[in-house]
Amino acid sequence: MVKDLLVQAGNHAALLRGEEIGECTACGEAFYTPNTVRRMEALEVRLGRGDVAGLKPIGQLFAVERVFENPKGFQ
Ligand SMILES: [Zn+2]
Repeated sequence: MVKDLLVQAGNHAALLRGEEIGECTACGEAFYTPNTVRRMEALEVRLGRGDVAGLKPIGQLFAVERVFENPKGFQ
């Protein structure tokens, strides 16, 4: 199957589009080809450095902060 993969590093995230993803016929677990892994790793390094030159902005990324319930003893 073909999927878009979200890669995130530092304050940036990018979609790696149109990657061919394998799927285990027994359990359905997804697996990536070595080329996909290389592309994901290279993109992760770039994003981590803040190098987004040539990447096309397609929207905004929002953070939804986790709301913790007050554990016992914490206010
Ligand atoms: Zn499996």
